Amino acid sequence: MLIVMRNDASNEQIENIEKIIKDMGFTPHPMPGSQRTAICVLGNEKRVDSTPIEGQPGVIEIIHVSQPYKLVGREFRQNDSVVEIGPVKFGGGNDIAIIAGPCAVENREQIVSTAVFLAGNGTGMLRGGAFKPRTSPYAFQGLGKEGLELLAAAREASGLPFVTEVIDEMSLELCVEYADMLQIGARNMQNFSLLKMAGQTNKPVMLKRGMSATVKDLLMSAEYIMSEGNEKVVLCERGIRTFSDASRNTLDLCAIPFIKSQSHLPVIVDPSHAMGVWDMIIPIARAAVAAGADGLMVEVHPNPREARSDGPQSLTFDVYAKLVAEIKAIAAAMGKNIFELKK
Ligand code: PEP
Ligand code: MN
Repeated sequence: MLIVMRNDASNEQIENIEKIIKDMGFTPHPMPGSQRTAICVLGNEKRVDSTPIEGQPGVIEIIHVSQPYKLVGREFRQNDSVVEIGPVKFGGGNDIAIIAGPCAVENREQIVSTAVFLAGNGTGMLRGGAFKPRTSPYAFQGLGKEGLELLAAAREASGLPFVTEVIDEMSLELCVEYADMLQIGARNMQNFSLLKMAGQTNKPVMLKRGMSATVKDLLMSAEYIMSEGNEKVVLCERGIRTFSDASRNTLDLCAIPFIKSQSHLPVIVDPSHAMGVWDMIIPIARAAVAAGADGLMVEVHPNPREARSDGPQSLTFDVYAKLVAEIKAIAAAMGKNIFELKK
């Protein structure tokens, strides 16, 4: 349930409603807006009886939220949320932000040279895994803390903020110290304790869709983060498992307008993990932007053949420059811009 207060409602009237909600056994979540405050009722599983709130001073409207994702849903907030990371913005409709970088941080030269190249070439944010959730225990697991230090050095050299993946409590604590944004990957989309921990930080979170998760599952996972108090969530469609064997995963383009209809949160697309091979990533990236994505996340490596993780889907610098040029054209056709770091 959502209680919309009059625009001239006093603090006492808002506090009175919060108290009534607590007395009813639920948790009030006030959301001050530019015009008026709305108070969301959290903690109920069934429809809440609104009688104790009806007619209270300062209340203008009571809305029964029909979706289980309350904070994430459009019923709760009609306007698009904008998640800002330094100068980069995700959401709001006008800018396309591109995140790029290697799958994994491997060494200083690799990450610093990549970041410096990207910063001058249409990129808003750097990516790179320091903690890698790999299918095989024998595959490269990431450099851990050293990887975070190298990402910080790459940020210093390039001016690009960075996003990196958290896989458990230990990595989350370390990443909070170093990173500008936390990534929760497909394999951890329903790691509910990790979602709650990320929700208790003040770092923006990029939440990737699980490979066999529905869009509603994704929205409920975002709800875990928001219900802990962190509203800076960016959703990422990265392809799901289907019977199609044409690509590593099947990119669910339909998810983009569907999420936008259901939720105010920004949505970006990762064409790299969807396609799985570098030479077919550009058309998928174009399609994602044309379908309304607020941004992209693309894997780029200075020498993909030597990459320790996801080399086959990593773009060389030249191919990445081509991708950015084509995305600029698609964005322009839609009246949008690619965010570029000021030199
Ligand atoms: C990644 O971004 O490197 C990654 C592991 O992605 P996903 O969680 O989508 O597989
Ligand atoms: Mn990868």
